[in-house]
Amino acid sequence: MAKNNSKSAKAKSAVKSTLQFNTSWSYAPAPESADHVKLQSSYDLFIDGKFTAPAKGKYFDTLNPATEKKLASVAEATTEDVDLAVQSARRAYDKVWSKMPAKERGKYIFRIARILQERAREFSVLESMDGGKPIRESRTIDIPLAAAHFFYYAGWADKLEYAVAGNRPVRALGVAGQIIPWNFPLLMAAWKIAPALAAGNTVVLKPAETTPLTALKLAEIFQQADLPPGVVNIVTGAGATGAAIVQHPGIDKIAFTGSTDIGKGIQKALVGRDTKLTLELGGKSANIIFEDAALDQAVEGIINGIYFNQGHVCCAGSRLFVQESVAGMLIRKLQDRMQTLIVGDPLDKNTDIGAINSRPQLEKIEEYLKIGVKEGAELFQTKCEIPKKGFWVRPTLFTNVAQSHRISQEEIFGPVLTMQTFRTVEEVVEKANNTPYGLAAGVWTDKGSKVFSVSSQLRAGVVWANTYNKFDPTAPFGGYKESGKGREGGLHGLLPYLEVA
Ligand code: NAP
Ligand code: MG
Repeated sequence: MAKNNSKSAKAKSAVKSTLQFNTSWSYAPAPESADHVKLQSSYDLFIDGKFTAPAKGKYFDTLNPATEKKLASVAEATTEDVDLAVQSARRAYDKVWSKMPAKERGKYIFRIARILQERAREFSVLESMDGGKPIRESRTIDIPLAAAHFFYYAGWADKLEYAVAGNRPVRALGVAGQIIPWNFPLLMAAWKIAPALAAGNTVVLKPAETTPLTALKLAEIFQQADLPPGVVNIVTGAGATGAAIVQHPGIDKIAFTGSTDIGKGIQKALVGRDTKLTLELGGKSANIIFEDAALDQAVEGIINGIYFNQGHVCCAGSRLFVQESVAGMLIRKLQDRMQTLIVGDPLDKNTDIGAINSRPQLEKIEEYLKIGVKEGAELFQTKCEIPKKGFWVRPTLFTNVAQSHRISQEEIFGPVLTMQTFRTVEEVVEKANNTPYGLAAGVWTDKGSKVFSVSSQLRAGVVWANTYNKFDPTAPFGGYKESGKGREGGLHGLLPYLEVA
């Protein structure tokens, strides 16, 4: 009897300890800690392989948008600094990088990829602190994908003769000026630097003003990998620093990712010059749900399409189109799922939606919420708690939206979804294409034939079928119309850094 009792007590305690394990780890994981990152109080420019003070001695602050606290001071590069960076990139191109056997160039890029993989945790925490994105995303998407881009393009470095039809010989362009936004800071740096280096170019890169820290940390990896000085230079600053790169006569190619307005300005600034240009700009992408789609799966795709990275995603599925016969059911399912989303501390592994990147971006989103209501759309926001400090927007859905509404035409770049209904394929294709943008789209249906016929009619650079926001270094990405020109990723992303010799 006593034996039995002790057996059952043992069994009970085993169950208890399993439960305790579950509670303390799976259900309430501790937030990632800022201790994983060694932050300096101030950061200099990375020019000619060294961290260098800015010529005018000016610094700006970068904040943590979840706390509104300053993380560090960052050097502001003026035209003098940009000039030094371009000169260094030119020297490195002429004397080292263009002379080096392609196989050796590839080894450096592989080394960068491997070190980034090893230091992934530190980069993920810093990315979430500087930009506000949930650690789950920076840990599983941003940083691994950035490393994957370096791995992928490293493989191209000694195979460039296979890049162009007819195996014609190719050569690099020279010095590439690269300007990136704040929504995927390290990933955008990788999208730009990796193909440029693989093709044999050298680089001057400018990160966004609100998220410069992971690009500067990447410079530490360049030092660690012994990348020859000047092959990549990183100049931090605001719009004027970007403009100085664009205007510099020593730049052979500009690669810009950012807003359509600035992209158009850059295009104008380069008229009459021999500088090559690729632009990755804004979007207002349609996510189309047909009545034969697996609706629960589609709901997950809608959530991922718009709430991933707080909706700060150029290809966000921000315009939802639902076939009328299932619209009522889909709205209920979607709203129920939205209520489960947790908004808050980006370093908490349970967080689904982190902080809005900056106060101006928060104000822009809030303005669009007012515009939507004024235009007559119906606003639904979840009731989740949000922290008192920091920049936050609850997941938002507008129904009763008309095609002419500004909220369904203009890029909001936040966790705000507009929903419209449709009856026929013709109607939804026409509505989906009726936008100045053409970056991405999603199609949800049980029928493969419908996937092919609808996606071939959509004027969008990327069309996902029964999924959304899936990225791979081997796949080209880019837009039509006001979403830009040129492609990044895959072989297509290598070509803008090469010319036929
Ligand atoms: P942005 O204001 O256009 O800024 C992009 C970059 O350009 C930043 O580094 C910015 O510096 C710099 N810049 C500002 N003015 C400049 C000028 N006159 N000349 C040269 N550079 C200048 O865009 P954002 O607000 O950072 O990013 C959001 C936009 O990027 C959205 O429209 C989004 O759709 C687009 N985006 C597109 C893709 C794509 O692949 N198609 C990917 C991601 C984002 P500051 O940071 O100091 O302003
Ligand atoms: Mg910041």
